Amino acid sequence: MDRKKIEKLTAELIQAIGEDPEREGLKDTPSRVAKSFEMLYGGYQKDPKDLITLFDGEDYDQMIICKDIDFYSTCEHHLLPFFGKAYVGYLPDKKIIGISKIPRIIEIFARRLQNQERLTMQIANTINDLLKPQGVGVVIKAQHLCMLSRGVERQNAVITTSSFTNLFKTNQKTRSEFLGLI
Ligand code: ZN
Repeated sequence: MDRKKIEKLTAELIQAIGEDPEREGLKDTPSRVAKSFEMLYGGYQKDPKDLITLFDGEDYDQMIICKDIDFYSTCEHHLLPFFGKAYVGYLPDKKIIGISKIPRIIEIFARRLQNQERLTMQIANTINDLLKPQGVGVVIKAQHLCMLSRGVERQNAVITTSSFTNLFKTNQKTRSEFLGLI
């Protein structure tokens, strides 16, 4: 990430909206913004493949669910935050994944410019590709500041997206079990 350039452009942006980038409250803002971008957009430098450890699932063949995973992302259309909870389930096929890795996969994709639909699919497809389970289900419920900050009637709108692979897609019972458990 080009931190110096982000600082320079942030100062220009502040000026362009009619503010004085030199005034007390704003003079350190460009460097704070550049620093915060390293976290908000830190997902570009990371590859989920590097953090995955798979374990032998022994004979465990039932659904595994990790739910209520908080995430923060940035809407690529307005550069405003969207945030909420992710729910992930999979049906293993011999291998299982370290459960703490699921929130880390979400983090890698959330810390990029995103739309909620793509974020949902990337999480499902990544777990599917790395783990080769019998199926993966991902549901994301989120609120978007680009909606919340405009129009009173949408104040509490929650957007839900989902992505399913294999058995979660083809088998109604598997999908219902997942949706029931989350
Ligand atoms: Zn937006």
